[in-house]
Amino acid sequence: MGVSPQLPAYTCSKCKKRPAFYNRAYSGEYLCKKCFVKAIYKKTVETIKKYKLINYGERVGVGVSGGKDSLSLLFILSKFLGAERLVSITIDEGIAGYREEAVGFAETVSRRLGVKHVVYTYKQLFGRSMDEVQPLKGDHSSCSICGTFRRRALDIAAEEAGVDVLATAHNLDDLVQSFLIILTNGDLDRLAEANPAVGYSTAFSARKVHPFMAIYERELAIFAMLKRFPMQSVTCPYMNEGIRTEVRNFLNTLEEGHPGIKFELLRSYEGLVERRTFRNGGSCSRCGRPSRGSLCQVCMMMDALDEASRLHGG
Ligand SMILES: [Zn+2]
Ligand SMILES: [Zn+2]
Repeated sequence: MGVSPQLPAYTCSKCKKRPAFYNRAYSGEYLCKKCFVKAIYKKTVETIKKYKLINYGERVGVGVSGGKDSLSLLFILSKFLGAERLVSITIDEGIAGYREEAVGFAETVSRRLGVKHVVYTYKQLFGRSMDEVQPLKGDHSSCSICGTFRRRALDIAAEEAGVDVLATAHNLDDLVQSFLIILTNGDLDRLAEANPAVGYSTAFSARKVHPFMAIYERELAIFAMLKRFPMQSVTCPYMNEGIRTEVRNFLNTLEEGHPGIKFELLRSYEGLVERRTFRNGGSCSRCGRPSRGSLCQVCMMMDALDEASRLHGG
Protein backbone atom coordinates (compact mmCIF):
# COMPACT_ATOMS: atom_id res chain seq x y z
CA MET A 1 0.00 0.00 0.00
CA GLY A 2 1.45 3.31 -1.09
CA VAL A 3 0.98 6.60 0.61
CA SER A 4 -1.16 8.90 -1.52
CA PRO A 5 0.69 12.05 -2.51
CA GLN A 6 -0.29 15.24 -0.73
CA LEU A 7 -2.38 17.28 -3.15
CA PRO A 8 -1.20 20.86 -3.40
CA ALA A 9 -3.83 23.23 -2.02
CA TYR A 10 -5.42 25.29 -4.79
CA THR A 11 -7.36 28.50 -4.41
CA CYS A 12 -10.63 28.97 -6.31
CA SER A 13 -9.94 30.43 -9.79
CA LYS A 14 -13.16 32.49 -9.63
CA CYS A 15 -13.22 34.19 -6.22
CA LYS A 16 -9.45 33.83 -5.62
CA LYS A 17 -10.23 33.53 -1.88
CA ARG A 18 -11.71 30.21 -0.81
CA PRO A 19 -10.00 26.84 -1.12
CA ALA A 20 -10.92 24.87 -4.25
CA PHE A 21 -12.59 21.46 -3.97
CA TYR A 22 -13.17 20.71 -7.63
CA ASN A 23 -11.07 20.80 -10.79
CA ARG A 24 -12.92 21.23 -14.07
CA ALA A 25 -10.72 19.19 -16.37
CA TYR A 26 -12.22 20.64 -19.59
CA SER A 27 -11.58 24.27 -18.58
CA GLY A 28 -8.68 23.95 -16.17
CA GLU A 29 -10.57 25.95 -13.51
CA TYR A 30 -10.44 25.21 -9.80
CA LEU A 31 -13.67 25.99 -7.95
CA CYS A 32 -14.70 26.41 -4.33
CA LYS A 33 -18.09 25.06 -3.24
CA LYS A 34 -19.84 28.41 -3.38
CA CYS A 35 -18.49 29.30 -6.84
CA PHE A 36 -19.29 25.77 -8.08
CA VAL A 37 -22.98 26.14 -7.14
CA LYS A 38 -23.05 29.59 -8.77
CA ALA A 39 -21.39 28.22 -11.91
CA ILE A 40 -24.06 25.52 -12.37
CA TYR A 41 -26.84 28.09 -11.91
CA LYS A 42 -25.14 30.47 -14.35
CA LYS A 43 -24.54 27.79 -16.99
CA THR A 44 -28.22 26.76 -16.84
CA VAL A 45 -29.43 30.36 -17.23
CA GLU A 46 -26.95 30.97 -20.07
CA THR A 47 -28.18 27.85 -21.88
CA ILE A 48 -31.82 28.98 -21.56
CA LYS A 49 -30.92 32.39 -22.99
CA LYS A 50 -28.55 31.19 -25.69
CA TYR A 51 -31.06 28.75 -27.20
CA LYS A 52 -34.17 30.76 -26.23
CA LEU A 53 -35.46 27.66 -24.46
CA ILE A 54 -37.95 29.65 -22.41
CA ASN A 55 -39.30 33.02 -23.55
CA TYR A 56 -40.60 35.95 -21.58
CA GLY A 57 -43.84 35.21 -19.74
CA GLU A 58 -44.10 31.57 -20.82
CA ARG A 59 -45.41 29.04 -18.31
CA VAL A 60 -43.19 26.04 -17.76
CA GLY A 61 -43.95 22.46 -16.80
CA VAL A 62 -40.99 20.72 -15.18
CA GLY A 63 -40.73 16.94 -15.37
CA VAL A 64 -39.79 15.98 -11.82
CA SER A 65 -39.15 12.27 -11.33
CA GLY A 66 -37.80 12.91 -7.83
CA GLY A 67 -34.29 11.97 -8.91
CA LYS A 68 -31.49 14.39 -8.02
CA ASP A 69 -31.18 16.01 -11.47
CA SER A 70 -34.88 16.80 -11.68
CA LEU A 71 -34.92 18.27 -8.16
CA SER A 72 -31.93 20.45 -9.07
CA LEU A 73 -33.70 21.64 -12.24
CA LEU A 74 -36.86 22.53 -10.31
CA PHE A 75 -34.75 24.42 -7.76
CA ILE A 76 -32.81 26.45 -10.36
CA LEU A 77 -35.89 27.25 -12.48
CA SER A 78 -37.83 28.37 -9.41
CA LYS A 79 -35.02 30.79 -8.52
CA PHE A 80 -34.64 32.04 -12.10
CA LEU A 81 -38.29 32.25 -13.21
CA GLY A 82 -40.26 32.35 -9.96
CA ALA A 83 -42.35 29.53 -8.53
CA GLU A 84 -45.66 30.90 -9.86
CA ARG A 85 -44.65 30.33 -13.50
CA LEU A 86 -43.89 26.65 -12.88
CA VAL A 87 -45.84 23.42 -12.55
CA SER A 88 -43.96 20.42 -11.23
CA ILE A 89 -45.09 17.25 -13.03
CA THR A 90 -44.43 13.76 -11.65
CA ILE A 91 -45.26 10.58 -13.53
CA ASP A 92 -45.83 7.57 -11.28
CA GLU A 93 -45.16 4.43 -13.30
CA GLY A 94 -46.58 2.18 -10.60
CA ILE A 95 -43.53 0.22 -9.41
CA ALA A 96 -44.16 -0.87 -5.84
CA GLY A 97 -41.28 -0.43 -3.42
CA TYR A 98 -39.39 1.82 -5.82
CA ARG A 99 -41.43 4.82 -6.97
CA GLU A 100 -43.04 5.85 -3.69
CA GLU A 101 -39.79 7.24 -2.31
CA ALA A 102 -39.01 9.46 -5.30
CA VAL A 103 -42.62 10.64 -5.67
CA GLY A 104 -42.34 11.71 -2.01
CA PHE A 105 -39.12 13.65 -2.75
CA ALA A 106 -40.80 15.41 -5.69
CA GLU A 107 -43.75 16.33 -3.47
CA THR A 108 -41.60 17.61 -0.58
CA VAL A 109 -39.21 19.69 -2.69
CA SER A 110 -42.04 21.17 -4.81
CA ARG A 111 -43.88 22.21 -1.65
CA ARG A 112 -40.72 23.68 -0.13
CA LEU A 113 -40.15 25.79 -3.25
CA GLY A 114 -43.83 26.81 -3.45
CA VAL A 115 -44.35 25.18 -6.86
CA LYS A 116 -47.69 23.58 -7.77
CA HIS A 117 -47.24 19.80 -8.01
CA VAL A 118 -49.29 17.32 -10.05
CA VAL A 119 -48.95 13.52 -10.25
CA TYR A 120 -50.17 11.32 -13.11
CA THR A 121 -50.13 7.52 -12.95
CA TYR A 122 -49.75 5.01 -15.79
CA LYS A 123 -52.65 3.14 -14.21
CA GLN A 124 -55.05 6.04 -14.71
CA LEU A 125 -53.71 7.01 -18.15
CA PHE A 126 -53.05 3.61 -19.75
CA GLY A 127 -55.00 1.19 -17.56
CA ARG A 128 -51.92 -0.65 -16.32
CA SER A 129 -49.09 0.04 -13.90
CA MET A 130 -45.53 -1.04 -14.83
CA ASP A 131 -45.90 -3.86 -12.28
CA GLU A 132 -48.97 -5.09 -14.18
CA VAL A 133 -47.16 -4.77 -17.53
CA GLN A 134 -44.34 -7.14 -16.48
CA PRO A 135 -46.00 -10.50 -17.28
CA LEU A 136 -47.29 -9.11 -20.59
CA LYS A 137 -44.22 -7.41 -22.03
CA GLY A 138 -43.00 -10.21 -24.30
CA ASP A 139 -40.14 -9.01 -26.49
CA HIS A 140 -40.38 -5.39 -25.38
CA SER A 141 -37.96 -4.20 -22.72
CA SER A 142 -39.42 -2.51 -19.64
CA CYS A 143 -37.44 0.65 -20.39
CA SER A 144 -38.83 0.97 -23.92
CA ILE A 145 -42.43 0.48 -22.77
CA CYS A 146 -41.86 2.84 -19.86
CA GLY A 147 -40.20 5.48 -22.07
CA THR A 148 -43.04 5.39 -24.61
CA PHE A 149 -45.66 5.80 -21.88
CA ARG A 150 -43.66 8.46 -20.02
CA ARG A 151 -43.35 10.72 -23.06
CA ARG A 152 -47.11 10.52 -23.67
CA ALA A 153 -47.90 10.99 -19.95
CA LEU A 154 -45.75 14.14 -19.86
CA ASP A 155 -47.50 15.45 -23.01
CA ILE A 156 -50.90 14.93 -21.43
CA ALA A 157 -49.83 16.48 -18.14
CA ALA A 158 -48.33 19.50 -19.91
CA GLU A 159 -51.52 20.03 -21.93
CA GLU A 160 -53.74 19.79 -18.88
CA ALA A 161 -51.50 22.18 -16.97
CA GLY A 162 -51.69 24.60 -19.92
CA VAL A 163 -47.94 25.20 -20.03
CA ASP A 164 -46.04 26.48 -23.08
CA VAL A 165 -42.82 24.63 -22.42
CA LEU A 166 -41.94 21.31 -20.85
CA ALA A 167 -38.48 21.25 -19.27
CA THR A 168 -36.80 17.96 -18.40
CA ALA A 169 -33.52 17.36 -16.59
CA HIS A 170 -31.65 15.53 -19.38
CA ASN A 171 -27.99 16.49 -19.07
CA LEU A 172 -25.03 16.60 -21.46
CA ASP A 173 -24.21 12.95 -20.83
CA ASP A 174 -27.82 11.80 -21.44
CA LEU A 175 -28.07 13.71 -24.72
CA VAL A 176 -24.70 12.64 -26.08
CA GLN A 177 -25.43 9.01 -25.14
CA SER A 178 -28.76 9.20 -27.00
CA PHE A 179 -26.99 10.75 -29.98
CA LEU A 180 -24.51 7.87 -30.25
CA ILE A 181 -27.25 5.27 -29.72
CA ILE A 182 -29.29 6.83 -32.54
CA LEU A 183 -26.19 6.72 -34.77
CA THR A 184 -25.91 2.98 -34.10
CA ASN A 185 -29.48 2.24 -35.17
CA GLY A 186 -30.04 4.70 -38.00
CA ASP A 187 -33.38 6.00 -36.74
CA LEU A 188 -32.56 9.58 -37.66
CA ASP A 189 -36.08 10.91 -37.14
CA ARG A 190 -35.50 10.32 -33.46
CA LEU A 191 -32.78 12.96 -33.52
CA ALA A 192 -35.48 15.60 -33.80
CA GLU A 193 -37.37 14.26 -30.82
CA ALA A 194 -34.38 14.90 -28.62
CA ASN A 195 -33.23 17.98 -30.54
CA PRO A 196 -30.93 19.57 -28.01
CA ALA A 197 -30.93 23.07 -29.40
CA VAL A 198 -34.43 24.22 -30.17
CA GLY A 199 -36.68 21.75 -28.44
CA TYR A 200 -39.20 19.54 -30.17
CA SER A 201 -42.75 20.58 -30.56
CA THR A 202 -45.83 19.47 -32.40
CA ALA A 203 -49.17 21.12 -32.86
CA PHE A 204 -50.26 19.04 -29.87
CA SER A 205 -47.64 19.44 -27.30
CA ALA A 206 -45.60 21.94 -25.37
CA ARG A 207 -42.05 22.63 -26.57
CA LYS A 208 -39.64 20.21 -24.93
CA VAL A 209 -36.43 21.71 -23.67
CA HIS A 210 -33.36 20.53 -21.72
CA PRO A 211 -31.85 23.41 -19.69
CA PHE A 212 -29.09 21.06 -18.43
CA MET A 213 -28.00 20.06 -21.94
CA ALA A 214 -24.55 21.64 -21.51
CA ILE A 215 -23.88 20.34 -18.00
CA TYR A 216 -22.05 17.14 -17.13
CA GLU A 217 -23.89 14.43 -15.16
CA ARG A 218 -20.99 14.37 -12.73
CA GLU A 219 -21.28 18.10 -11.98
CA LEU A 220 -25.04 17.81 -11.44
CA ALA A 221 -24.46 15.00 -8.95
CA ILE A 222 -22.06 17.25 -7.02
CA PHE A 223 -24.53 20.16 -7.21
CA ALA A 224 -27.35 18.00 -5.77
CA MET A 225 -25.05 16.83 -3.00
CA LEU A 226 -23.96 20.38 -2.10
CA LYS A 227 -27.62 21.52 -2.08
CA ARG A 228 -28.46 18.49 0.09
CA PHE A 229 -31.26 17.17 -2.12
CA PRO A 230 -32.52 13.75 -1.03
CA MET A 231 -31.04 10.80 -2.90
CA GLN A 232 -32.98 7.73 -3.99
CA SER A 233 -31.90 4.65 -2.07
CA VAL A 234 -33.49 2.10 -4.41
CA THR A 235 -32.84 1.54 -8.12
CA CYS A 236 -35.56 0.50 -10.52
CA PRO A 237 -36.06 -3.29 -10.34
CA TYR A 238 -36.93 -3.46 -14.05
CA MET A 239 -34.03 -1.41 -15.33
CA ASN A 240 -32.41 -2.85 -18.41
CA GLU A 241 -30.64 -0.10 -20.26
CA GLY A 242 -29.22 -2.30 -22.97
CA ILE A 243 -26.50 -0.62 -24.98
CA ARG A 244 -26.71 2.67 -23.03
CA THR A 245 -24.51 1.38 -20.19
CA GLU A 246 -21.76 0.48 -22.66
CA VAL A 247 -22.09 3.81 -24.47
CA ARG A 248 -21.88 5.66 -21.13
CA ASN A 249 -18.68 3.83 -20.17
CA PHE A 250 -17.18 4.40 -23.60
CA LEU A 251 -17.91 8.14 -23.45
CA ASN A 252 -16.49 8.42 -19.93
CA THR A 253 -13.27 6.77 -21.06
CA LEU A 254 -13.04 9.14 -24.04
CA GLU A 255 -13.70 12.17 -21.83
CA GLU A 256 -10.97 11.16 -19.42
CA GLY A 257 -8.36 11.17 -22.15
CA HIS A 258 -9.88 14.11 -24.03
CA PRO A 259 -11.57 16.56 -21.66
CA GLY A 260 -14.38 18.43 -23.42
CA ILE A 261 -15.10 15.77 -26.04
CA LYS A 262 -18.71 15.42 -24.85
CA PHE A 263 -19.26 19.11 -25.64
CA GLU A 264 -17.85 18.54 -29.11
CA LEU A 265 -20.24 15.65 -29.67
CA LEU A 266 -23.12 17.85 -28.56
CA ARG A 267 -22.05 20.44 -31.13
CA SER A 268 -22.00 17.78 -33.87
CA TYR A 269 -25.46 16.70 -32.77
CA GLU A 270 -26.75 20.27 -33.05
CA GLY A 271 -25.10 20.66 -36.45
CA LEU A 272 -26.68 17.50 -37.82
CA VAL A 273 -30.12 18.42 -36.57
CA GLU A 274 -29.85 21.86 -38.18
CA ARG A 275 -28.87 20.39 -41.53
CA ARG A 276 -31.57 17.77 -41.63
CA THR A 277 -35.10 18.55 -42.68
CA PHE A 278 -37.35 16.41 -40.63
CA ARG A 279 -40.35 14.74 -42.09
CA ASN A 280 -43.55 16.27 -41.01
CA GLY A 281 -45.25 13.13 -39.78
CA GLY A 282 -48.91 12.26 -39.99
CA SER A 283 -51.17 11.39 -37.12
CA CYS A 284 -52.35 8.26 -35.35
CA SER A 285 -55.58 6.89 -36.84
CA ARG A 286 -56.87 6.01 -33.37
CA CYS A 287 -55.85 8.72 -30.89
CA GLY A 288 -55.03 11.46 -33.39
CA ARG A 289 -51.66 12.29 -31.89
CA PRO A 290 -48.55 12.78 -34.05
CA SER A 291 -47.30 9.50 -35.46
CA ARG A 292 -44.98 8.30 -38.18
CA GLY A 293 -47.12 5.24 -38.93
CA SER A 294 -50.89 4.75 -39.04
CA LEU A 295 -50.83 3.91 -35.32
CA CYS A 296 -48.64 5.76 -32.81
CA GLN A 297 -46.14 4.03 -30.52
CA VAL A 298 -48.49 4.24 -27.53
CA CYS A 299 -51.48 2.74 -29.35
CA MET A 300 -49.30 -0.07 -30.75
CA MET A 301 -47.92 -0.76 -27.27
CA MET A 302 -51.43 -0.86 -25.78
CA ASP A 303 -52.53 -3.33 -28.50
CA ALA A 304 -49.56 -5.60 -27.80
CA LEU A 305 -50.28 -5.56 -24.05
CA ASP A 306 -54.02 -6.21 -24.56
CA GLU A 307 -53.18 -9.13 -26.85
CA ALA A 308 -50.75 -10.59 -24.31
CA SER A 309 -53.34 -10.14 -21.58
CA ARG A 310 -55.97 -12.06 -23.62
CA LEU A 311 -53.52 -14.92 -24.17
CA HIS A 312 -52.67 -14.87 -20.47
CA GLY A 313 -56.28 -14.83 -19.35
CA GLY A 314 -57.51 -17.47 -21.79
ZN1 LIG B 1 -14.72 30.60 -5.22
ZN1 LIG C 1 -52.30 6.64 -30.98
